[in-house]
Amino acid sequence: MGQLNINRVQKFFGQFEVLKSVDLEVREGEFVVFVGPSGCGKSTLLRMIAGLEDTTRGDIVIDGVRVNDLPPVRRGIAMVFQSYALYPHMTVFENIAFPLRVEGMEEGKLRQKVEDAARILHLEQRLEQKPGMLSGGQRQRVAIGRAIVREPKIFLFDEPLSNLDAALRADMRIELAKLHKRLKATMIYVTHDQVEAMTMADRIVVMNAGGIAQTGAPLELYHKPANLFVAGFIGNPKMNFMPVTCVSASPDGVVIDYAGQRMTVPVEPRPGMEGQNLTLGIRPEHIDLAGGDITLTVRPTVIERLGAETVAYASLDGERENFCATLSGSVGIRAEEPLTLGIRAADCHLFDADGEAFER
Ligand code: ATP
Repeated sequence: MGQLNINRVQKFFGQFEVLKSVDLEVREGEFVVFVGPSGCGKSTLLRMIAGLEDTTRGDIVIDGVRVNDLPPVRRGIAMVFQSYALYPHMTVFENIAFPLRVEGMEEGKLRQKVEDAARILHLEQRLEQKPGMLSGGQRQRVAIGRAIVREPKIFLFDEPLSNLDAALRADMRIELAKLHKRLKATMIYVTHDQVEAMTMADRIVVMNAGGIAQTGAPLELYHKPANLFVAGFIGNPKMNFMPVTCVSASPDGVVIDYAGQRMTVPVEPRPGMEGQNLTLGIRPEHIDLAGGDITLTVRPTVIERLGAETVAYASLDGERENFCATLSGSVGIRAEEPLTLGIRAADCHLFDADGEAFER
């Protein structure tokens, strides 16, 4: 069990519409990650599922039961917060056991459940310690342990790893992915971190300005972003966007013109598109020095040498660094010197004036 349906859900804080009629289905056992810019409403949506915020309109349904009016403890969910929310004066054991004590669970059964959770989370040796003696990663494990013992239908995670350093975050990502496999529970996870989203999610929900911009498997969003927003949000460094004009539709795609050069982008043409201003998208990692269907010469202002790769930043409009190419680590390029780069039509994305992608 652990199926969630969000039907036409809206949220107002006073006059301010934070969520605009959101529809979403999360299947039993799915690991779904909400991503989006700060303020887009992801935490609010998570808190509404948890019952920590009320729902202005629409229905939140868990396993066929509308839970809008149920208090958090009766929804069959458990939430893990960024701040861990542990009790500093209690031992790890008592912190994990806390929800079971509140339920009034019998001691033997309680001990068994806490010990099982501790084993899964490698906390067996820490049960008698206080949270103050633990590292950030261990504290977060205790918080997860407290969620596990409740055997919720749905786990909700609100940026659980953002207080940890990069190496520990990478370890915890793997731990959480293993935990999901082991428990087979439905998990909904809010993060700012694209790597967390791309590596852990079965499905990513990209939110923007109180709505859902696109949902899809991580690589589906990477390869087939539905609009400019998702194209720019998924991928790091972000996709480059270049203004182009549509010359004509052809059986092989859409012929575009960029600064006097033409190429056919293999996307579905639409009727009457000749002469329209469009946006061409190309990911930095798909640009190289070895020629392409069109080329452009830039003078990089900043070059970052990361070892495995070299990232060159340049300006196409003479104002800001709005163009970026990820090249091989061994490439011998210099700032301010002309650099000719190739773009292949097959790697390009094309967007209309409303920012909607043409079907690939
Ligand atoms: P972040 O990634 O920064 O946490 P978020 O996408 O999780 O952002 P929310 O915390 O859901 O965003 O907030 C969405 C919007 O609702 C923001 O503009 C925020 O200021 C507003 N908001 C959140 N909580 C309240 C509240 N209790 N009262 C009024 N406005 C609120």
